[in-house]
Amino acid sequence: MNIQFTDIKAATPTAESLAASYAAINARLDAGEIAPAIAHWEILRRELESWVSLTHLHFEQDTEDAAAKAAKDYLDELSPTATAHEIALKRRLLALPDRAGLAAITGHHALRLWETDITTFDPAIEPDLIEEARLISRYTALMSSARMEIGGEVVNLSGLPPYAESLDRETRHRAEQVRWDFYAANGAEFDEIYDSLVKLRHGMAKKLGFENYIELGYRRMRRVDYNAADVALYRQQVLEHVTPLVAKIMEQRRVENGWEKLYFWDESLIDNQGNVTPAGGHDFLVSQAQTMFDNMNQELADFFRLMNEGGFLDLKNRPTKAPGGFCTSFPNAGVPFIFANFNGTHHDIDVFTHEMGHAFQNYASRNLPGFDYLWPTSESAEIHSMSLEALAYPQIGLLVGDDKAARYRRMHLIGSLAFLPYGVLVDHFQHEVYAKPDAKPAERHAMWRALEQQYEPWCDYGDLSYPAKGGYWQNQMHIYGSPFYYIDYTLALCCALQFWVKSRADYDAALADYVALCGRGGEAPFQDLVASAGLMSPFTEGALRDVVKEAETVLAA
Ligand code: ZN
Repeated sequence: MNIQFTDIKAATPTAESLAASYAAINARLDAGEIAPAIAHWEILRRELESWVSLTHLHFEQDTEDAAAKAAKDYLDELSPTATAHEIALKRRLLALPDRAGLAAITGHHALRLWETDITTFDPAIEPDLIEEARLISRYTALMSSARMEIGGEVVNLSGLPPYAESLDRETRHRAEQVRWDFYAANGAEFDEIYDSLVKLRHGMAKKLGFENYIELGYRRMRRVDYNAADVALYRQQVLEHVTPLVAKIMEQRRVENGWEKLYFWDESLIDNQGNVTPAGGHDFLVSQAQTMFDNMNQELADFFRLMNEGGFLDLKNRPTKAPGGFCTSFPNAGVPFIFANFNGTHHDIDVFTHEMGHAFQNYASRNLPGFDYLWPTSESAEIHSMSLEALAYPQIGLLVGDDKAARYRRMHLIGSLAFLPYGVLVDHFQHEVYAKPDAKPAERHAMWRALEQQYEPWCDYGDLSYPAKGGYWQNQMHIYGSPFYYIDYTLALCCALQFWVKSRADYDAALADYVALCGRGGEAPFQDLVASAGLMSPFTEGALRDVVKEAETVLAA
């Protein structure tokens, strides 16, 4: 029998066990045994990462389980100690005289990553890192605590989309009212958590010798081949090429539906016959997904069977489950895990194909030479996930019904285009926030609203006063928990849309390029990986112009 999720175990480390492990590795280095020292460290890192993943997963699966919460708190407290050991070892390895010999063991890219990593940590920020994790947990708990009454039932945030995307306009409006009532009622706490996070991160940046958190944030994302100026140019391309197209799509929707105005709650209704939903529930989707992957590619098919039969999927929504979806991995065993909250909308399909892309890449990369290559940096990782969403298009009838396949594809494409301005807005906002760390919460709301009007000029909140005053961003978990991550989705989407364009010309070739890219994992920086897959870097002028032109043609057909 194949590996089962219940077989996955990882030892819980202590400060003493960590010190002993690193002492043993350092002793080998003292003896000049570099390759054995690195091999020992590799085993330790895989074991530790598996423990981190399991602990986070158990907490997210039931945020009200006291034991899971205690284990997560313990992890949050111990993590800076583990980081301190890891950074010290990276420093020591990077200082070895035989650089070429070291690179022959680890690969060059790992060394570049470590050179970035060592600038992001100093023992002086250990207490700040503990506090940062505590604040993020507070945000997760607050989000998970939301209970809203609608349609005669009580739902959490993951349960709201069926109402928020209802064909009935009044229901959509009501869903947004109850959503934003929750944020308004907890606005002071949302502001306080974020204000604390911003000041804390700014303080860490200062202690490490940076002017503000922006440079540190980029380094914590391990970006080695582009900078904030490149990202600013990319945002500008989205503003020039994508915002006008999305504005046109929104205006068409307003006219088609005979609305005097298009309000915020109308943005989620992409299809005026009603957004396409899956043709069945959880069990149906999982079973049809096997057929979908069988039809696509043998490696994908075998991998999905392994995940499903081994219990590496937790896709159903439950009341105390954390919102969202993600893929995590246990590198001591080599099989990843997918977490989601199915709610009967098209998001079930989007999230499932997305996370399957991450999972497939992680599995395809499991035998690469070192821990640093198991996952790429996230702008590359999101290519694997978002491209699989698009590469699933020809098979999507299996999940939504053949009669609705074309409408699903259209809806997904429009959703992707509309995501680009939103994604760069989230990024631009964070640049402004961390450039002015002393801004008052009300100023941050004003910053958001001004940028929102620039990137999403169609956005009209009507009588929803909380987001109308600039509070929408508090709904975006990454702004709290993963600073500067969000642009990565938009960079990857630019690449995924290029895969989509290629797949329309030659599907098999595009899928083969995709599988090959997944196999490379994180062995190279973003723009190298992109070039090797025959794609244009999003930082190249014109990378978006061409995909937008293709999308415009397809949508006009
Ligand atoms: Zn992703």
